[in-house]
Amino acid sequence: MRTLLVMLLCMLGGQSALAWNGRGHALVAELAWQALTPEARADVEALLEGDLDARGEPSGRDRLTQIASWPDEIREHERANNPAAYRGWHSRTNQVCSEALGKCPKGLCVDEIIVTQTQILADLQRSHRERNEALKWVVHLVGDLHMPLHSGEQGAAGSKPAQLSGKKQKSGSTLHTVWDDALLDAAVKGWKIPALDERPTQPPYSPAEPRRWMLESRDVSRDSVFAGLPGFACGQPTPDQFELDAAYQAASVPVIRQQILLAAQRLAGLLNASLR
Ligand SMILES: [Zn+2]
Repeated sequence: MRTLLVMLLCMLGGQSALAWNGRGHALVAELAWQALTPEARADVEALLEGDLDARGEPSGRDRLTQIASWPDEIREHERANNPAAYRGWHSRTNQVCSEALGKCPKGLCVDEIIVTQTQILADLQRSHRERNEALKWVVHLVGDLHMPLHSGEQGAAGSKPAQLSGKKQKSGSTLHTVWDDALLDAAVKGWKIPALDERPTQPPYSPAEPRRWMLESRDVSRDSVFAGLPGFACGQPTPDQFELDAAYQAASVPVIRQQILLAAQRLAGLLNASLR
């Protein structure tokens, strides 16, 4: 497993995106792959035949880990022409101090797209291309939903500048990007990933599950992203920038590991239920 992880980290080094970075998405995909039935694996392999990249060119990709960031790639590609392309599709802005659901115009937000794309994936009347793209959406978005800031925000605090005490980091880092990149990379480094039979079991997939996962992820955001911030309290304005001390950084490690495992287990359950 460690060799695999090192390989993934090397393969994906340098990628970054507005979500768990490419390394996080590839890890979720790899852990899900391990938990797929032989039938679901065969179906995944068939669906990746003739896969196309963001420009619509043959990608040569034939593994789940390789397509896990495709929705970020097409967004990046489209943004050259249309800065609003796919805006809001990868998240839902639920507020962590409220029970109200965030907006989801035309059903285009993370939990609802997972449901609709899962239906397309399972529908054998759909074309190969539609089911291929549906697979790429669900693999990516189940990962995104489990990144706590994709399911739970406090005002626009995720976009405010954030520094990790005692660490060098990219200029322009925000609370959201440090969770995507630096904290994720620190959590994955040296992780002894539990064997398949030691991972949390999950209820079978149903269309009600993605919302439940999202609301749980919102609560993780409240309790683990925000509650540990200096001066944070519901009903109070958040500071204009954050200094994340060593204790905050250490506390993020088990949270991120748990979210990655949950994403992988749930993705595997969804794929096993939808493919045959
Ligand atoms: Zn994303």
